Amino acid sequence: MHVEGLLKQHVIDPEICIRCNTCEETCPIDAVTHDDNNYVVNAEICNYCMDCISPCPTGAIDNWRVVSKAYSLEEQFSWSDLPAQEEIASGEAGGAIEALEDDVGALLEEARKGLGGKPVAPASASKPTVNLYNRGKPAKATITGNFRLTHAEADSDVRHIILDFGDQPFPVLEGQSIGIIPPGLNAEGKPHAARLYSIASARDGEKPNANNLSLTVKREDKGVCSNYLCDLPRGAKVEITGPFGATFLIPNDPASNILMICTGTGSAPFRGFTERRRRAMPEAAGHLLLFFGARRPEELPYFGPLQKVPEKLLTRHFCYSRVPGEPRTYVQDRIRSEGARLSALLNNSHTHIYICGLKGMESGVDEAFADVCRHASLDWATLKATMRESGRYHVETY
Ligand SMILES: Cc1cc2nc3c(=O)[nH]c(=O)nc-3n(C[C@H](O)[C@H](O)[C@H](O)COP(=O)(O)OP(=O)(O)OC[C@H]3O[C@@H](n4cnc5c(N)ncnc54)[C@H](O)[C@@H]3O)c2cc1C
Ligand code: SF4
Ligand code: SF4
Repeated sequence: MHVEGLLKQHVIDPEICIRCNTCEETCPIDAVTHDDNNYVVNAEICNYCMDCISPCPTGAIDNWRVVSKAYSLEEQFSWSDLPAQEEIASGEAGGAIEALEDDVGALLEEARKGLGGKPVAPASASKPTVNLYNRGKPAKATITGNFRLTHAEADSDVRHIILDFGDQPFPVLEGQSIGIIPPGLNAEGKPHAARLYSIASARDGEKPNANNLSLTVKREDKGVCSNYLCDLPRGAKVEITGPFGATFLIPNDPASNILMICTGTGSAPFRGFTERRRRAMPEAAGHLLLFFGARRPEELPYFGPLQKVPEKLLTRHFCYSRVPGEPRTYVQDRIRSEGARLSALLNNSHTHIYICGLKGMESGVDEAFADVCRHASLDWATLKATMRESGRYHVETY
């Protein structure tokens, strides 16, 4: 996994390890060794096969550090606890390692262009795992569910797809993405590039403690990967890379207000965020607000389930642009009409903004926030920069 001089090193947490020798017995290529003090992984030998992860009774073996120079055996033997992740500047990502694979890094960089600066994770977010699986060593997931979210008569076919990882570790946080490798070759006879999809479930799975996750996938006309995914039957196997993304993450602070603005499949991470809040902190003081744009209610993924989330937890603003006989409403219109409430939230240092979905929505949303701020004698450009720098403003559009 060497990319641009960086290595994701497999390390063992000496504070948790009970020195049971299971990993040393399990490792097929003798990458694990020990002295009187510690069990350690030899970075020159380990090939990331993951065979040792599930047999470890404590989880001590499931630790990773991205390093510019691998920790030597001697250094690891001397540890009494794990060293913190060192700060590594990685281009635009500015220290937060979103992805080590060049093509995935480029996709994420493009998706976050609208931020206008370095992406920064919320200060209270959990530490994500990134790049556990790559093209050379993908995870293999099984499709355990694939059903249509949009109405049978809607123009768009958006599907809820559930992927089960069996006994492979695939730790994720809400807001991260995974790579899907469509089988077959492209027009140049090369393997298809991986496509990114946002995780639509909470970190602990579709149902608590299931080793699975869900995606919200829109079938694109003639699209290679979306058609492949949308047509997969239950039981089919899929090759997965990732997880990716280290900044578009939910804050863990229960006081945080989370403003979520999306169109179409941009709702995927917000389904994960809402589910996380509902499960982990249902009594949180902070509020969730969703602005969700679609042509008609029939085109809106998760419409039914979203209606069931209590208002106390989530305030919903559905904005329809093509309902016969009704004025066209886009998310930016609703942001403007909710200006008084929003400007109070924007003045609150616990407020986070997340924008996800079609690239085309960005400028309208930006102008709407500028208008809301102007009416409240706030300067949106300054506020936006401050929010981004403190990990409270996030954009992911594609
Ligand atoms: C960070 C991130 C998160 C994302 N999250 C999601 C998500 O949660 N859900 C989701 O659905 N998508 C998501 N995407 C988009 C996703 O990665 C893919 O880009 C999308 O599914 C289209 O991929 P595809 O392989 O189907 O289309 P591609 O084959 O890549 O084609 C791209 C476009 O070109 C057109 N095209 C292709 N071949 C032809 C042809 N022969 N003639 C005419 N037109 C053609 C297709 O209509 C398509 O619109 C995300 C992207 C990023 C960057
Ligand atoms: S990941 Fe594989 S090679 Fe590395 S220590 Fe574990 S079992 Fe050994
Ligand atoms: S299997 Fe886990 S607990 Fe046992 S020695 Fe290895 S790392 Fe430590």
